Amino acid sequence: MRKRYPCVEVDLSKVTHNVKEVLSMCSKKGINVIGVTKVFCAETSIVQAMLDGGITHIGDSRIQNLKKVKDMNCKKTLLRISMESEAEDVVKYSDISMNSELNTIEVLDKAAKSLGKIHNIVLMVDVGDLREGVLEEDVIGIVKEILKLENIRLVGLGTNVTCYGGVLPDRNNLGKLVKLKHDIKALFNIELSIISGGNSSSLYMIMNSTIPVEINQLRIGEGIVLGRETAFGQLIPNCYDDAFILKGEIVEIKNKPTVPKGTIGMDAFGQRPHFEDKGIRKRAIVAIGRQDIKVEGLSPLDKNISIFGASSDHLILDVTDSKSQFKVGDIVKFKMDYGCLLAAMTSGYVEKYYEEELAISIVV
Ligand SMILES: *Cc1c(COP(=O)(O)O)cnc(C)c1O
Repeated sequence: MRKRYPCVEVDLSKVTHNVKEVLSMCSKKGINVIGVTKVFCAETSIVQAMLDGGITHIGDSRIQNLKKVKDMNCKKTLLRISMESEAEDVVKYSDISMNSELNTIEVLDKAAKSLGKIHNIVLMVDVGDLREGVLEEDVIGIVKEILKLENIRLVGLGTNVTCYGGVLPDRNNLGKLVKLKHDIKALFNIELSIISGGNSSSLYMIMNSTIPVEINQLRIGEGIVLGRETAFGQLIPNCYDDAFILKGEIVEIKNKPTVPKGTIGMDAFGQRPHFEDKGIRKRAIVAIGRQDIKVEGLSPLDKNISIFGASSDHLILDVTDSKSQFKVGDIVKFKMDYGCLLAAMTSGYVEKYYEEELAISIVV
């Protein structure tokens, strides 16, 4: 099989390995892990690699992705606050959904009623990051209303931080969830089984043992996929950061100056570019661009390659200092940050290859 470029190659055994490491770290603190699949669009072979590592519960922000894996044997949580317009699919394809609007929860209740189901929800609480969630002072009031709904079961409280406001999870803000859990128990005599304390930015609290004991669930995407906690960007011990590799093909290679000739106006993205004169450099153009990737999130595996910049379809590299004698048709490899991986996995122009396919192509 001849490969097509650009492509992302996924080493499924590294994903499985990272899952095992993250799970063992979390289970020591009594924490269940939702494996978050949105960055790779819930691609089934990667979901399977997660399940192989011991994940039993996945989460995705898009109902289309959960629909794609409806027959896979695991629990499914819809992570993004439900849209009213998709209520029926939410009830059909997720076991649990995260919510913050009473109206939407009532629409879910109706949908569940007409499907003859009970739908589980986690109520999202905003502890300071100002993305989704009910404000602390409004929680008790909304819980009281939720408990009146016949086809909705409130199973937990959750929060999300470090996404919009950059607020880090800590004992103080996660402690608010714990306090609310106790308040709800005291007022309504219900035991909430899920206290969901955030995403990969909460992993550091496991690593330094500061996570409150009542937090019993984290929703982990980047930690598994890129082997990184996201509060400080540290690698997680014993995890791989190269399970996903981007490969692109060189279509031009020439020695050229580093400063363009002529009057500088705006580039293709409306920015006024700025150039540092490094003299004549060997420049390689790779056939990939901002339509497919986030250029700032790329790191060439060859440390002697640097990135000049990119337009929609062209990535311009400085390969002068590389020990490889690059020529047209050669392949350049990159690691990606989360945003870049998200773009590449979502782009229809980027091929995806999974480890089993790689093995098959060798046999053929
Ligand atoms: C994306 C998402 C996650 C996972 O975030 P990571 O930083 O990749 O671990 C968790 N919770 C919610 C609500 C999300 O939208």
